[in-house]
Amino acid sequence: MNTIAVIGSGTMGNGIAHTFAQFGYPVNLIDISKEALEKAISTIGKNLDRQVGKGTLTEAEKMATLSHISTFTDLQTGVAHADLVVEAATEQLELKLKIFKDLDAFAKPGAILASNTSSISITRIASVTGRGDKVIGMHFMNPVPVMKLVEVIRGYATSDETTENIMALSKKLAKVPVEVNDYPGFVANRILMPMINEAIYTLYENVAGVAEIDTVMKLGMAHPMGPLQLADFIGLDVCLAILRVLQEGFGHPKYAPCPLLVNMVAAGHKGIKSGAGFYNYANGVKEPVVAAKFL
Ligand code: NAD
Repeated sequence: MNTIAVIGSGTMGNGIAHTFAQFGYPVNLIDISKEALEKAISTIGKNLDRQVGKGTLTEAEKMATLSHISTFTDLQTGVAHADLVVEAATEQLELKLKIFKDLDAFAKPGAILASNTSSISITRIASVTGRGDKVIGMHFMNPVPVMKLVEVIRGYATSDETTENIMALSKKLAKVPVEVNDYPGFVANRILMPMINEAIYTLYENVAGVAEIDTVMKLGMAHPMGPLQLADFIGLDVCLAILRVLQEGFGHPKYAPCPLLVNMVAAGHKGIKSGAGFYNYANGVKEPVVAAKFL
């Protein structure tokens, strides 16, 4: 595996590019938005500075990591020489289908096409390509440079060879890969999202406030972060999209997103990335939104 192309330079794409580059892989980071690419390079720089500050990386390693990353706004040019493409664009089925159709046309015939999707079927994504055996889920966790897990998702047609390649590559990135099959939400989000949704229902029904719900789960269950804070961190739009996939995929009402979550996303309150969600993040201070706001 030599050159890696990463599609989408948002929350996950910049972390994925950072991680591959840190382990010496040349990375082509691709986004339709030039601003998103500039922001990604600046974020990667800041995150590398933090690693240098902690003593886990040297200044020279930081500079080498940055030098491994090139940016592109043109998909065809960015993926032309890649041995692996990791797609981390916005969580929308139609968008991913279009990207994978293009990837099948533009990437080398032997290249593996991976998606970092949180919930969309790998089998469905693979169906628009002529290389279903080489399409796989490579689901990194946020923040990518820190989190150890990679959920490796085998679509219906994914070959053993592709799976073994991605399991081995994940280990080279000092990650712990776990192989799972392709059903809605895979393992991570099938379990996590109903918990987050239930926390939102608990708020919606005024059982307790934001800080109280998060404190119960942090101190009572030893979770490092409460579910509402985690939802803000993931992005409320991303949480909503995943719940819709679970709801549609299993056809069970238990996955129906809480109306409060639907309203918050419609209002543009998407969590940390929009400056407000269950907490307000104005002026770098995290304040729980008061309960009255949710009544
Ligand atoms: P994001 O909104 O932060 O970034 C998405 C990026 O994709 C944006 O910069 C956008 O400009 C770009 N994009 C959109 N269309 C594109 C195209 N046609 N070509 C190239 N770039 C395009 O989203 P994110 O949170 O980074 O999520 C990306 C993927 O990772 C999604 O599939 C999501 O489900 C998954 N994921 C997210 C998290 C999380 O915690 N946010 C965790 C695991 C997986």
